[in-house]
Amino acid sequence: MTTRKRMHSSPKNYYCDAHFHSSGSGSLEVPGILNGTSPRDWAEVLRLAGNRPGIRPAIGLHPWQLDDAPHDWQGQFQAALTSGARAVGEIGLDKRFAKAPFDAQCEAFAWQLKQAAARNLPVSIHCFKATDPLLRLLHQNPIPTRGVHLHAYSGSAEEVAAFVELGAYFSFHAGQLSPPARKAPAALRRIPPDRLLIESDAPDTLPESINQREYLKLGYEQAADLCDIPLAQLIETVMTNYQRYFLND
Ligand SMILES: [Zn+2]
Repeated sequence: MTTRKRMHSSPKNYYCDAHFHSSGSGSLEVPGILNGTSPRDWAEVLRLAGNRPGIRPAIGLHPWQLDDAPHDWQGQFQAALTSGARAVGEIGLDKRFAKAPFDAQCEAFAWQLKQAAARNLPVSIHCFKATDPLLRLLHQNPIPTRGVHLHAYSGSAEEVAAFVELGAYFSFHAGQLSPPARKAPAALRRIPPDRLLIESDAPDTLPESINQREYLKLGYEQAADLCDIPLAQLIETVMTNYQRYFLND
């Protein structure tokens, strides 16, 4: 049976969502990485993923949640890792929207990165207006041998190469690739095919955003157009990358 025929019979089985969150609408039938953002949602992430083999739970303290994280969040993090978390995320650095001081963000990020590296777990990274500090921390600290995942990549096309050298994977969502956007489409064209992933980042955090799991397919279609390859080829490439990075325990 050809790939085209198999896809026609059951398209939902061929998409995978490299990054989404627990409170999003939409089905949990599409395989994906369900990311936590603070100790408040880690139990829910583990519960939702618990009986769904296609959904992998990731736990992490997001830079937006750092300012009001409980003092024992690191202990809770380690407990969640031993209770079934299969990845670390969402963690990161944000120079624009996070309330926590940047030094504290760097410290929390480096600590969580070390936990992922020690267990060679996939790690999903949020980086906004902080490319240089992120590169520095990735060079100064152990990182998982499988590499890192930069979710909703917002760096420039020129900055892609430095992350590729570190073994990075990159994902984009439909909102980043929709016209008139230019930065993410330009960056996407520089991503080596074996490092590309697609995500929904559902649920939406801004009223005008289209970060819902229903839009995952649109992200695939836009990426296929931008890379000038058939959609079926992109689906296959992304699934291979997803399995190599996230499922290769
Ligand atoms: Zn996210």
